[in-house]
Amino acid sequence: MDGLVLKGVSKSFGGVRAVDPTNLEFAKGELTALLGPSGCGKTTLLRMIAGLEDPTRGNILLDGADITALPAHKRKFGMVFQSFALFPHYSVRENVAYSLTIGGMSKSDAYAKAETLLDTVQLGGFGDRRIGELSGGQRQRVAIARALAQEPDVFLLDEPMSALDAKLREEMQVELRLLQQRLGITTIVVTHDQREAMTMADQIVVMSNGRVEQIAKPQEVYHKPANAFVADFIGKANFFDGVFADGGVQIGTLQLQTQAPFRSGSAVKVAIRPERAEIDDRPGENRIDAKVMFVRDLGPLREYHLETAIGPIIVEYAVGETGPSLATGDTTTVRLPPDALQVFPRGEAA
Ligand code: ATP
Repeated sequence: MDGLVLKGVSKSFGGVRAVDPTNLEFAKGELTALLGPSGCGKTTLLRMIAGLEDPTRGNILLDGADITALPAHKRKFGMVFQSFALFPHYSVRENVAYSLTIGGMSKSDAYAKAETLLDTVQLGGFGDRRIGELSGGQRQRVAIARALAQEPDVFLLDEPMSALDAKLREEMQVELRLLQQRLGITTIVVTHDQREAMTMADQIVVMSNGRVEQIAKPQEVYHKPANAFVADFIGKANFFDGVFADGGVQIGTLQLQTQAPFRSGSAVKVAIRPERAEIDDRPGENRIDAKVMFVRDLGPLREYHLETAIGPIIVEYAVGETGPSLATGDTTTVRLPPDALQVFPRGEAA
């Protein structure tokens, strides 16, 4: 296959298993996000791909060729780190041209190429500035230009936005995604931020405890999570523990109709996104008496925090949507539509 392939790649540090045996494919020209909570092994996986860490087992292939034993400096991979790792006393131009002159290119050619790259990342005219004279977002663009200088086969970014404030981070996610698509470069981004992964990625790899939990497109990870961990980690969800019985899920004295078939008597976990639950006083299936404990107005969204016999439920309405008008202390009915309920075997963390 064209692109990058991991075959059974694992890593242990002494007795600590950081990454379980993992098979992954990174298609040429696509952007993959490695997403998961702190300590799940995403940086270790990225460092193995970069050649900065040897896999304990397994093979890494690029366009069909085995590169497992190839040292980092011989892989044409560009890297951007969390800290950017720029030379503070060099100019912007010198930072970008550095790896080119080290690689033997003449200074004038390297500087000319650096100028083109600075134009690419919208920093034309900034070549003479020192790094200390730049904003966080501008420094990040320099780090990207520097990583692109070698015309890398694969572009690797480890938490590239984490030093930026929230607003700039969102702008840079869009900018970086557009640049990556324009250049058509195979890219892997490590992040613990699900919005960042959803914004940028063609493919999301969700990890926990050194294990890949799901590999899918962003919309699929959100709407069809593979298990309760993914449902909980990506977006928000209401969860209930129950037992599958009579074609539905028994939760205490309540029988919920669902569309997922399970073996009768199986312990299951039911999840529903807050925007899929409804406040609906008409009689019918999957309706539960509820009391409004708190109303949270978030500008574009309004959340109702409800107390019910099966536990707390959050229902979310977008402003402009026809929603109810309730206040703390009101009583109402919440409906959990069967097609909106995701049912997972219990025993999985959530
Ligand atoms: P974060 O988002 O916090 O950076 P991560 O998902 O990138 O986390 P890793 O840094 O890959 O996680 O770490 C995975 C596991 O491997 C952790 O339990 C970590 O403590 C362990 N680990 C990582 N590097 C080493 C090392 N050099 N020696 C021993 N253990 C390590």
